[in-house]
Amino acid sequence: MSLPYFEVRRAEEGIRAELMTAVRHVIERGHYILGPDLEAFEHRFASYLGARHVIGVANGLEALMLLLRALGIGPGDEVIVPSHTYVGTWVAVTECGARPVPVEALPTTYNLDPERVEARIGPKTRAILVVHLYGQPADMDLLSEIARRHGLFLLEDAAQAHGARYKGRMAGTLADGAGFSFYPTKNLGALGDGGAVVTNEDAVADRVRLLRNYGTRTRYVSEVTGLNSRLDELQAACLLVKLSHLDAENARRRALAARLLDALSDSGLGLPAVPSWADPAWHLFVVTTAHRAAFQRALAARGIGSSVHYPVPPHLQPSYRWLGYGPGAFPVTEQLADHIVSLPMAPYFTDEEVHHLCMALREAALATHASCEAKLPSGCSGRVQGARPGGAE
Ligand SMILES: *Cc1c(COP(=O)(O)O)cnc(C)c1O
Repeated sequence: MSLPYFEVRRAEEGIRAELMTAVRHVIERGHYILGPDLEAFEHRFASYLGARHVIGVANGLEALMLLLRALGIGPGDEVIVPSHTYVGTWVAVTECGARPVPVEALPTTYNLDPERVEARIGPKTRAILVVHLYGQPADMDLLSEIARRHGLFLLEDAAQAHGARYKGRMAGTLADGAGFSFYPTKNLGALGDGGAVVTNEDAVADRVRLLRNYGTRTRYVSEVTGLNSRLDELQAACLLVKLSHLDAENARRRALAARLLDALSDSGLGLPAVPSWADPAWHLFVVTTAHRAAFQRALAARGIGSSVHYPVPPHLQPSYRWLGYGPGAFPVTEQLADHIVSLPMAPYFTDEEVHHLCMALREAALATHASCEAKLPSGCSGRVQGARPGGAE
């Protein structure tokens, strides 16, 4: 039995007919931009989250960027971001002209360490852009307290957290605003690119609506310089279908995560810590090992796919050399980048596949551990395997 890391085709197999019908309706109607399905999706996703406003945009990066711009954040401003995240979080800040100020990660939950935030706040700081990485909610109460004390906006990069909950409340509704991505492999994925801004603030929502459509409210009147960042009707129609299955799929992810945590409890792998207040969306299931290359080889030998999210942290990317951080600037993040492995986490696995996956993972972990501890000549360094330049989502 072979279990690839993730297969979008398979994830959509069970709902392909529904998607075809949705797409056919859009084509028969012939209205592709800013139409009824976008409006319906915005309403449905808002009520799913319990938020006042959802504004569909072209992708997750632009959701975050437009949210920052709508709050007036730009050149001369600083935004606190996690050092351990997908580079997209940082790009949203720099594309606004602002400067990302990274905060080190917690090795246990992989999220930004709230205890280290305050030391990074200065006179130019305007916002904290927190990421619910891998679908695990960040500790928002601590962060809102800090943001309130310093008069900062608190914002969420919820690109990996569709349906995650923090103390019973939905990720994406826990701060002044949030950005979601509907990249195809996310828990709620479009059949192409897509994203959304979520906020309870009427003025912010209004501003984002303007900015996503050339700054235009009345046709051909451009009030502010905006961009073209609209979520199109075909994607909105597919997202309406996908949204109706999100809770069921997240439930399957949770069940799989519970099985994996149990099966790997004494495997020697570092497992994700789940605080009592967290109900993660389990976008990814990420473990740590000092013997990553050997572990990934042992998985591959058993037909099990794996991945690394992400092998090079943003502060060590060539694109962010100008910020002046070198190796050693964020040791926890750098250690994570060398030791993390993403294991298969898919809502479509059958019971038999889940059973096989648990057995194979455990076996591979124990075998790797045994051979590496015995210093057998199997090349047990923590070097990155299959790292791709630019990173993969
Ligand atoms: C996917 C992702 C983004 C960017 O989303 P796109 O839709 O690909 O632009 C931003 N931040 C995080 C944490 C992500 O996982």
